[in-house]
This record gives sequence, C-alpha cells and structure tokens, in this order.
Amino acid sequence: MNINEKIINQDIEREIEKDLLIFNQFMESLKIKIGYKNDFYFLCDLFNRNLIEKIEVNALQIKEMWLDYIKNVEKDHTFQLYIGIPYCYSKCAYCIYHMGVAKDKELEEYAKKLINSIIFFQDVLRKIKFNCCYFGGGTPSLLEEQDLFEIMKIISKSTQFVEGAEKTFECNPQSTTYEKLKIAKEFGFNRVSFGVQSFSRDVLNKINRGYQTKEMVRNCIDWSKRLEFQEIAIDLIIGLYGDSEETFLESFNKAVELKPNKIYLYICQPPKEYLRFYFDNSWEKYNKHFKTLTKKLPEIYKIAEEADYIREDKLKFIDPTQVGAILFNLRTSPIIKHCYTGMQITEKISVFGLGHHVNSCIYETAIYHSTPLEIDPEKNIYNLTMFSKKEQMQFFILNSLENYPRYYIDKIKFRKLFGIELEKVFEDAILKLKILKKIQITHDKIFYLPKENKEKFLYALFFIGRDKIVESLKNYAKPSIFF
Ligand code: SF4
Repeated sequence: MNINEKIINQDIEREIEKDLLIFNQFMESLKIKIGYKNDFYFLCDLFNRNLIEKIEVNALQIKEMWLDYIKNVEKDHTFQLYIGIPYCYSKCAYCIYHMGVAKDKELEEYAKKLINSIIFFQDVLRKIKFNCCYFGGGTPSLLEEQDLFEIMKIISKSTQFVEGAEKTFECNPQSTTYEKLKIAKEFGFNRVSFGVQSFSRDVLNKINRGYQTKEMVRNCIDWSKRLEFQEIAIDLIIGLYGDSEETFLESFNKAVELKPNKIYLYICQPPKEYLRFYFDNSWEKYNKHFKTLTKKLPEIYKIAEEADYIREDKLKFIDPTQVGAILFNLRTSPIIKHCYTGMQITEKISVFGLGHHVNSCIYETAIYHSTPLEIDPEKNIYNLTMFSKKEQMQFFILNSLENYPRYYIDKIKFRKLFGIELEKVFEDAILKLKILKKIQITHDKIFYLPKENKEKFLYALFFIGRDKIVESLKNYAKPSIFF
C-alpha cells in the first residue's frame, strides 16, 4: 500500500466510525420510540415507517393515481387485491395488527363504509385483471352473514380475475358458520385459512382466545371439505405464553389429524405489551420459552413427514428466529397458480387495498395506508409515500437482506428492475461494508455476512446512508403516524 492509499483508507475508516456512531444512536432512539427489541428489527417496516416522508391525500387523488397507472402498465403486471376487516372477537395477547373489538353496530357500519368504498373505486377495479384476492383482517368471518354476502357480492360485481387466481377467506373458527363458508364458495373463493393458534384450552385462555373449542375447528375443516375449497389451511403459533413442549406438540398432532392441505406454524413476533405482561418485559425470558418449544421441532417435522406433509423450505435446519412461518404442505394438495404475496418491492406487484388501516402499493409509484373509512368515500384519507427511485432501490436491498435463509442482494435482478448497476448507485456503502468485511461480492451477488439480527440491522443502514439517518434522528421526537 502506498502512502496515498494509506491516507485514503484512514479517511474512509474515520467516515465509517462516524457512520456507526450515528447508526447506533438511531437504533437506541428506535427502541425508545417504538419499543423494538434488540433481536427484532424489521428493516423494510422500519424504512417505511420512520425514514420516508408521508403526505395525506384523499380518495379522489388515489383514484386518479390508479387510473393513470393502469393506462400504461405492462400487460402481464401482477395486481393483487386485499380487503380488510379490522375487527376481532377479542384482542389476542400477541396481536401486532391494527384491529379493534367491535362495539354495538360498529361492524355493521364498517361493512357499509367498505361497500361504499368498493363502489367508489369500481371504475378502477373493473379495469384491472387481478391475480389474486385476500379477504383478511382482523377477522372477516366475524361479519354477519348478510353483510358478508353484500360485501362479497359487490367484490364479485366489481372485479375480474385471471384463471387460477387464489381467493382467500380468512376465518376464526369461533365465528365461522357453514353458511358463511357457503357464501364465500358461491362467490368464487377457493381458499380458506383458519387461525387456530393452539388446541390447548389452557393456552387459549391465557392468550385471550379462550372461546375457541376443538369442535369449532373440526366443524370448520369438515364444512370446508364438504364445500370443496381447493385449499384449507390451519395456522398455529410457536411462542405462545403458557404453551409447553407437550401442549405445543399436541396442537400440531391435532392439526395433522384434521388433514388440512396446509399447516402454517407462525413464529410469534412479540409486541412490547406481550413481553411486558407475560415475560416481565424481558426479551431473554421470552427467548428461553421460545427455545424450549423449538426443541419439539424435529419431532414435529417427523410427524409431518409421516402424515405426508412436505416442508416447502426443504432446509435441513431452520432457524425459527429468522423466519415468519414454517409451512407444511400436504403432498397431494392441488396447487393454486397465483398466490397472494402482499407488498413485495422485489417483484413487479401492485396491491390494491380496501378497508381501514390497509396498505396498498402502486408499483414504482407509491405506497399508501388508509386511515379509518368514512361513510362518504370521497372523504377517506390516505397516508401516501411517493417513492423516489433511490428509495425504491433501498427498499429492494433491505427486502433482500431480510430474505431468510439467503442473505444476499441479487445484482442481476437489481439491474433488471432499475436498469443500472447496483455498485454504481451504492458505491460508498459497498466500499465501507467491504472494509468492514461484512459483505462478499461475486459476479452476480453480494452476500451479506452479519448473522445476528442486531448486527444485520446495523450494517444495513449503510445502504440508507448517514444523511438520512441524521435527518430522522432530528425528527424522531415527532410521533410516527402509525402509532
Ligand atoms: S385474530 Fe389476529 S388480528 Fe385478531 S386479535 Fe387475534 S392476532 Fe390480532
């Protein structure tokens, strides 16, 4: 190394030190602001909530944006439809969603507002050929049969779908009836998903879902089979307070006995209230509990295999702290062609969301979040983020770095999506991370080496850049609009 190179390197090292100082401060500030725990940072979520400016727009402006967008969109662009019911029978202890418990006529009124909103957007919706639809929440099965019928009728009148489109109706066994499932089937829904979480009465009581019984779940599965839904899914959760190795294993066994096409074993993402209430606000205590339950995973994999379920990930070893869910697929299940994926900046997908507190994405243009609906749909307000090209690229990178188990950025995909070389746009970040030995570069990929969640989060901030983080630190006293 000659003298000049040495000076340049020293300069960069000083810059890195400054960066790290600010990034660490930023992480501390987030902990205070929104209670993120050391081990649970969500990069894209954080980026969207805390680092990008948002503006308020009305429903007419949103409509115009969509109309403009679909005029020039590529023929094979993927459109997904999401309809949200943000109400539940009770609030589960671990819930991280925006939902409420409906009082008096609240749910009925919400159904009217939602219908008005669908009618308002009808002229946009009718111009789109959707690839799939997800009717979720909250709990859509909580709707009265008549309201459910009216909502599904208006959806069906206002939308068209490609062949083989997945249409999911999300249900809670407690509020599901044969009639409701029949309505969904009649309006073309081909997939039902039941949030069961656990079969243990004791665990369900502890997490505020004590009203659900095994008979309810059994009925739901039997009715769905009778109605010939193409896909029937059961959701369970690992990490519930009160669950033991035995009850956890028993729940999985019971789910297998009912033979749904799919079993999702979701990883509990504990919100701060959950930790405070059940685990003395101690992440370590929660982690210990979680790890105890994961000891049963090898047994669970064996049971699944013997019952002819295959694991989609096909990994020999899976780190449950790094994934959202473990999916078990019945080998003989029919395959639905176009599945709902939600917002994915790494793919060319637009999501049209309808309802309270629902996210939408107009690909390469904007993302927005609806505030509570009004009875007059023109008065609806949305928090909108116009993505700059650079921000889309940053979102792409953060999304790639979250993608367990392959922590890498695909340079070819980046070039295809944005028409420019990754190294050109993020030259500074890549150089610093290389010096820090946090990345490894090949001809088509950049492998991201940090393993611990906290480290992964910290070093990813190099792609966002010090300026943006400093700006955010200045504003961090302002409350985030989502909280
Ligand atoms: S059913 Fe789902 S959305 Fe409703 S409270 Fe429970 S976790 Fe939250």
